[in-house]
Amino acid sequence: MKYTAPRGTRDLKDREAQAFQALEESARRIFQRYGYEEIRTPVFENVELFKRAVGDTTDIVEKEMYVFEDRGGRKLALRPEGTAGIVRAYLEHAWDKSGGIKKLFYIGPMFRAERPQAGRYREFWQIGAEFFGNPSAQADADVLLLLQDLLAASGLTEVKFLINSIGCAACRPVFREALLKYLDSKQGCLCDDCKRRLARNPLRCLDCKKDMAHFSDAPKMRDSLCGACQAHDQELKGLLTSVQFPYEEAPCLVRGLDYYSRTVFEITAPGLGAQDALGAGGRYDSLVKTLGGPDIPAIGFALGMDRMASAKYGDSLSAGIQPNACSRIFVALAGQGTGMTGFRVLQDLRKAGCTAEIGAPGKSLKAQMRWADAWKAGFVVIVGEEELKRGRVILKNLQKHEQKEIEIENLKSEIEEQREKS
Ligand code: ATP
Ligand code: MG
Repeated sequence: MKYTAPRGTRDLKDREAQAFQALEESARRIFQRYGYEEIRTPVFENVELFKRAVGDTTDIVEKEMYVFEDRGGRKLALRPEGTAGIVRAYLEHAWDKSGGIKKLFYIGPMFRAERPQAGRYREFWQIGAEFFGNPSAQADADVLLLLQDLLAASGLTEVKFLINSIGCAACRPVFREALLKYLDSKQGCLCDDCKRRLARNPLRCLDCKKDMAHFSDAPKMRDSLCGACQAHDQELKGLLTSVQFPYEEAPCLVRGLDYYSRTVFEITAPGLGAQDALGAGGRYDSLVKTLGGPDIPAIGFALGMDRMASAKYGDSLSAGIQPNACSRIFVALAGQGTGMTGFRVLQDLRKAGCTAEIGAPGKSLKAQMRWADAWKAGFVVIVGEEELKRGRVILKNLQKHEQKEIEIENLKSEIEEQREKS
């Protein structure tokens, strides 16, 4: 039996693991600047939470969730997205009772049983944020500016912000009617999914990956917005323009999750092929209430880290890592009774901040040198039986092909000196 990672999953390694690390670091720095705190919610939750939050008629709930029963008979699901769990936590910890304002971010894996393809996995990672308690367009602008800073800090500047308003419970039914009428006239060219959506959730047709091109003349939500939604939209655009924030209006943009209202947005990047959405988000003013809390507005987003890494590094993402050779030191043992000193030298080097490794006792010096080479060492410290009697070791500089015998006490200063010269 040969084991492989489950379909649609992969090991994050080499350059990709490094890229994820860098993305996390820059994201944390920017979140702090905007006053967000980190939250780490469970990877699985009660399945009902997702059904209620994400919506029964969404693709996620209908066909993409990993649902299972635990040994206690509880119905659980691996989280397909982050917002539902965070709203659950927000209410569970009664943050709604202490003023209601809360800015939270998360970084972690999500799970959806989708058809795997380039940029689409069954386990993928998201960096996301939720901003609770501020109903105004100023919060929307705050979130978009954070996103712009975060993407720039991650080296992603060639991105497009697409923005739309999908109205609220008061004005969306009017739009829904107009859209239904339109889609009805298009019955002939709808895909099977859209025919199903037509009955249950017609707005979702606009998000169809197959039929999108046919819908360019569909009615636009913008034309049905109520006064309050229109004012919100105008205020947001005014704020964005005042700080020269570049965005595009996307009158057909809707979101795949049910909980959105008013502002929705998507971020795309060139060079990603069919899966060009780096991230998406929007306002969800009724979700806290839907999940049993008070009437508290919120806005959030999620960025796909897998796609961010791929937008940044392209094909080189699968390459191995080339460590900075002169930063690595290998301690080789040559002869009887050298193990103890070698081990001490190793730990001294590590304490001084060096990346250091040691050869296995009993292996020949030749075998240890091969290992040092494969490990991309810049220096090898040979702890030899003879030299040790004089309190000395041999320092080999692998890049310069030079070696010299030095006092153990001078090892660190000698390495530093040689590094500075190279
Ligand atoms: P898509 O239109 O690509 O299916 P979505 O609308 O399902 O995306 P969201 O649920 O809004 O996406 O998630 C936000 C981001 O998470 C996406 O823009 C994308 O970058 C990433 N993402 C979503 N699903 C996957 C997946 N299966 N594999 C990799 N990344 C994903
Ligand atoms: Mg999707």
